[in-house]
Amino acid sequence: MTLLDEAAAISGEIAELRHAIHREPEIGHDLPRTRDKVLAALAGLPLEVSQGSQLTSVTAVLRGGRPGPVVLLRGDMDALPVTEATGLPYASRFDGVMHACGHDLHTAMLAGAARLLSARRAELDGTVVFMFQPGEEGYAGARYMIEEGVLEAAGERPVAAYGLHVTSQRLPCGTFSTRPGAMLAAADQISVTVHGHGGHASTPHRAADPIPVACEMVTALQTLVTRKFDVFDPVVITVGSFHAGTTDNVIPDQATFLATARSFSAESRAALAEIVPRLIGDIARGHGLTAEAVYSAEYPVTVNDAAEAAFAGETVADVFGAERGEQAEFPLTGAEDFSFVLEQVPGAFVMLGACPPGTDPLTAPTNHSAHAVFDDAALADGTALYAELALRRLIRG
Ligand SMILES: [Zn+2]
Ligand SMILES: [Zn+2]
Repeated sequence: MTLLDEAAAISGEIAELRHAIHREPEIGHDLPRTRDKVLAALAGLPLEVSQGSQLTSVTAVLRGGRPGPVVLLRGDMDALPVTEATGLPYASRFDGVMHACGHDLHTAMLAGAARLLSARRAELDGTVVFMFQPGEEGYAGARYMIEEGVLEAAGERPVAAYGLHVTSQRLPCGTFSTRPGAMLAAADQISVTVHGHGGHASTPHRAADPIPVACEMVTALQTLVTRKFDVFDPVVITVGSFHAGTTDNVIPDQATFLATARSFSAESRAALAEIVPRLIGDIARGHGLTAEAVYSAEYPVTVNDAAEAAFAGETVADVFGAERGEQAEFPLTGAEDFSFVLEQVPGAFVMLGACPPGTDPLTAPTNHSAHAVFDDAALADGTALYAELALRRLIRG
């Protein structure tokens, strides 16, 4: 039997685990219910299992019967603050929390791969590290796991690391997508407070109105994107939150806004961190006001190693058929904290279509939507790919 056959044979149990995780979603670093389900799924397998101290991570090490290198497989486990509206029989039992990004599938698939590879332990040419990670959605869980030693869990560093991510739209179910180089954007946060001084709205010349100045900053940030950055090394800045004032006849003391900054190269990211605070400060000064602009580095660019991305593409073609894989033309503007792993270990991040049957991938609700549905049919494929990537990469040495 191939690993794909074996994954298909246990797909019912993988789906059960996925549904159990989906029913009880948890946010951030502290995912005790999810961790316990993972530990139960791994129980009895020949793994060295350890848990995180700052977060409910699970690291499992499988030492093969033959000597060889270390390969790391990663699945994230956390959910989002979204109220589920799918109506699925296994929908979230918790108000305001939903596995809207499909991390329940990643966790179940990685546990499935641990089971399949454990059964082949004797013939494994090296060691596999299974990284079950909390806190992907903005909590940098991968960075904490690295600090706590996940890259040294096997006693030596992995030679390669792979991550999978399902998508509820764009890709037809069971189709894989990856690319060499930038795969996902860097995502940073710009937090701005404009300090003026308030007064009566009828006499703005006696006040220092922060609202038009903050508006000018929002516009200037868009101009900055088009005038300071190479169109072939794109940057996206979106102001997603803007707050000032209470009513129409009062000038407030301050205005605040938050923006996300997405970039695809270390150079553009460094330029953003330097130019944005300066631009904000200069605009405020130009109007006789002051402003604080904090540029917070969040997730780096997710960069696929060219050779590892090619290897992942070849593995997909060999296991599933060439028609089931694509090389993505462009990176995605989303971000991933698997980027912290790929900064230290060459590897590849691969997308997997999980759009339900009868749904047009082009119009299906996206990841993070309250209506996002990820089909169980992708589970066996993702499990098999995780296992095949590890098995084959170990053979290559
Ligand atoms: Zn997400
Ligand atoms: Zn995600």
